[in-house]
Amino acid sequence: DVRVRFCPSPTGTPHVGLVRTAMFNWAYARHTGGKMIFRIEDTDAARDSEESFLQLVEAMRWLKLDWDEGVDVGGPQAPYRQSERYDIYRGVIEKLKASGHIYESFVTGEEIETRNRDLGRDPKMGYDNFERDLTSDQKAAYRAEGRSPALRLRVPDTELSFDDLVRGEITFPAGSFSDFVVVRPNGHPLYPFVNPVDDALMGVTHVLRGEDLLSSTPRQIALYHALIDIGVTTFVPRFGHLPYVMGDKNKKLSKRDAEANLFLHRDRGFIPEGLLNYLALLGWSLTHDRDVFSIDEFTAAFDVVNVNPNPARFDLKKAESINGDHIRQLDAADFAARLVPYLVSAGVLGETPTDADLALLAQGAPLIQERIALLGEAPAMLGFLFVTGADLILEADAIASLPQNAADILGASRTALESIPSAEWDTDRVHTLLAETLIEGLGLKPRVAFGPLRVALSGRKISPPLFESMEILGQAETLGRLDRALT
Ligand code: GLU
Repeated sequence: DVRVRFCPSPTGTPHVGLVRTAMFNWAYARHTGGKMIFRIEDTDAARDSEESFLQLVEAMRWLKLDWDEGVDVGGPQAPYRQSERYDIYRGVIEKLKASGHIYESFVTGEEIETRNRDLGRDPKMGYDNFERDLTSDQKAAYRAEGRSPALRLRVPDTELSFDDLVRGEITFPAGSFSDFVVVRPNGHPLYPFVNPVDDALMGVTHVLRGEDLLSSTPRQIALYHALIDIGVTTFVPRFGHLPYVMGDKNKKLSKRDAEANLFLHRDRGFIPEGLLNYLALLGWSLTHDRDVFSIDEFTAAFDVVNVNPNPARFDLKKAESINGDHIRQLDAADFAARLVPYLVSAGVLGETPTDADLALLAQGAPLIQERIALLGEAPAMLGFLFVTGADLILEADAIASLPQNAADILGASRTALESIPSAEWDTDRVHTLLAETLIEGLGLKPRVAFGPLRVALSGRKISPPLFESMEILGQAETLGRLDRALT
């Protein structure tokens, strides 16, 4: 059975590349009926933070990328934070030592350079495995100098190749890497060790991760062979390296780019459905002519072997347009509910909106659902419904857009609108009457006729549909706003 994992290091804020990795693993698990494991690789105390850990969990929960085993939910290989697994690693280290797969190495980085220089080689050439077979006297002598050894994995001297699920056959010639450090002299195990050890213990069958990790794969496979030898696992997983995500100017999107920050996209009003749909397109496609699909369609169709190895470009405009499509597909009540936090944080609604506010929102939300690509556009568009007219701010560019005869238009509109019996005040009635008065009566073009009304009622040049807005505002409020605009 398929077992995949998402195993980020909690450094910094979740970014879109990371989410894409999480999502492809998740989709593969859901597609195959396998299991998704969520592990935290927090063995670098200097860089890891609890805040970042909490953000990762929050991101996964927000996106509804659920997991079967891992942090928060537990599972047969708990704990799922590497910082809590040192005892487990110590046991594996002992076995690898006893079986000769890892050995003590005392040389420092500086000494390696000196050695290479003395031998007439490139000083940066790295370690040449010369400490593989130190005698116990040599080790004792180092210890007498007060040195503690690092532990290195003895790697095979043969070429190493594997069949990448995304890229096909990849071969690393013999000698492309040397015996590498798995445990520091201070006893601290390193990423190239703990990552495959946990994958092995957790029975991971498919390692799907970013292309930036491709170079660590041959080392990890070498370690896997040692783990098989000592009975920790019986197989080497398949690997699939997902393409880079490029930002502007064809540069790799980096964690530091604002565009990469997941929560920024959430704060601007991406909904999970829209963002996940877009991220699915970074290296994958459903069909050549369909960019918009649901998460269920995605998991039903996704197979990692169809991932395209070429770098994928993160195109914010396209992402927003896809998000708009998903916003339009929400049912009305769901859409309104999702607007609430955005309206609250913009100050349009109070911290705990009243029932009256929510009722007004239920009326107003449908007016903008077809018109926005991001939920964060809602406060500016709906704000005018939630203020009393006296507090309405007329924006400067809206005032500047008014035609010469704005006062005549507003005056004529006011007189006409006042004549509607209050029980008959609705969109159609208002629309018909204003069209008669302004377009037929005064011979104005619709754009000229309705612009001043829009400004008087919403304070903005662009607003939700005018007549519907008037219906929601009600007759008294509408007339009041026209009066204030006229003075
Ligand atoms: N903790 C590693 C990282 O965040 C995970 C690498 C992997 O998926 O193997 O880069």
